[in-house]
Amino acid sequence: MRYSIVQLARQALGRHRGWAPAWRDATPKDGYDVVIVGGGGHGLAAAYYLAKVHGITNVALVERGWIGGGNAGRNTTIIRSNYGLPGNEPFYEWSMKLWEGLEQDLNYNAMVSQRGVLNLYHSDPQRDAYARRGNAMRMHGVDATLLDADAVRKMAPFLDFDNARFPIDGGLLQERGGTARHDAVNWGYARAASALGVDIIQNCEVTGFLRDASGAVTGVETGRGTIRAGKVGLAVAGMTSHVAAKAGLKLPIESHVLQAFVSEGLKPLIPGVITYGAGHFYVSQSDKGGLVFGGDIDGYNSYAQRGNLPVVEDVCEGAMALMPMIGRVRMLRSWGGIMDMSMDGSPIIDHTPIPGLYLNAGWCYGGFKATPASGWCFAHLLATDTAHDTATAYRLDRFRTGHVIDEKGAGAQPNLH
Ligand SMILES: Cc1cc2nc3c(=O)[nH]c(=O)nc-3n(C[C@H](O)[C@H](O)[C@H](O)COP(=O)(O)OP(=O)(O)OC[C@H]3O[C@@H](n4cnc5c(N)ncnc54)[C@H](O)[C@@H]3O)c2cc1C
Repeated sequence: MRYSIVQLARQALGRHRGWAPAWRDATPKDGYDVVIVGGGGHGLAAAYYLAKVHGITNVALVERGWIGGGNAGRNTTIIRSNYGLPGNEPFYEWSMKLWEGLEQDLNYNAMVSQRGVLNLYHSDPQRDAYARRGNAMRMHGVDATLLDADAVRKMAPFLDFDNARFPIDGGLLQERGGTARHDAVNWGYARAASALGVDIIQNCEVTGFLRDASGAVTGVETGRGTIRAGKVGLAVAGMTSHVAAKAGLKLPIESHVLQAFVSEGLKPLIPGVITYGAGHFYVSQSDKGGLVFGGDIDGYNSYAQRGNLPVVEDVCEGAMALMPMIGRVRMLRSWGGIMDMSMDGSPIIDHTPIPGLYLNAGWCYGGFKATPASGWCFAHLLATDTAHDTATAYRLDRFRTGHVIDEKGAGAQPNLH
């Protein structure tokens, strides 16, 4: 909802008692042109762009819990577009451009903070790999700077540069990378979509699919009744294989747990996002002063939103190698989310073999940064039945045809979330 100056003045004089909720908590109608399953960032963004860009407003977004209760509210908030492969770079750079205008577009403070993302390197071969990636980025018009150890020391003097095992030789910096406040991103999209007429329906789990005689999907069965739909889009992240199985689909996706951690508040110390190139650790500092950090996935299949101790130990080892003083910091809390790991580390935005059913999945542990472009491209697919120019590589059949986008250097490398 947008307020006029007069309405704002009225609120101020009326002691702010008249604010409406940011979005309508809708009750399901019998049917919609489009039903999007999953109220994470990707589902919310797709619903918003369907309404805003394509004028399709008869849309329901159904979420089994509360919006942002999945990975969209559990991630470590890093955004960047430092990918090197042709299939990925245009898409993630499109996402970065959308981030850069998001707050104006949504009229909502999403705390987009381009404080820089620095990937450290610790050997000559790693420097060469980062140089190649930086060059590929620059050829796509994306900012990238290869730094030597002295330049990194100026930015982050607190790092242990000369640790005996993995001394820091330098880093690849993307200055336009940074962080955005994940909850605010969800709420901003929800508010803007709702204002355009989208029904946001929480506490509404999809339990099955309606099919017609030809097998096409024509709606969803939910805990709150049957909802008919012209098209159904899945954006359920870690639950993708589980939900798709209800339509009889087997996908090249496994679900794994990823954990993250936040420390007590400290004085401002860490300038941007720093990733350790020789182990599983990356860190940034929130505006409340907490160190926000994480590492690798737990490494076993699971639909449980909680992790185990071996990875906590592994992440803390990485942290101690890079920043020994972190050993004296108290940890406030840790949590887990369920990752939809695709087999090449890259996402899928495509039709499924079932008419009427569309898929947005396979974001692994890097889908927060993709939220705006993922929503944009999924909305484009749902509205036009064609892939958006920046997402043509994200086909489901690439695992059969061999056109995989195996970018372990950025998409699937544990220390580069
Ligand atoms: C600890 C952690 C750290 C991360 N850090 C980063 C990072 O720094 N940068 C980055 O780019 N990415 C990061 N990620 C990954 C990123 O969060 C995800 O890739 C992205 O959020 C996935 O898309 P989404 O937001 O739509 O998913 P989600 O928010 O998980 O949305 C899916 C929704 O579907 C709902 N759902 C599931 N089943 C059903 C059903 N049957 N019916 C109705 N609704 C259903 C779920 O409740 C959920 O709300 C991280 C993830 C985690 C867990």
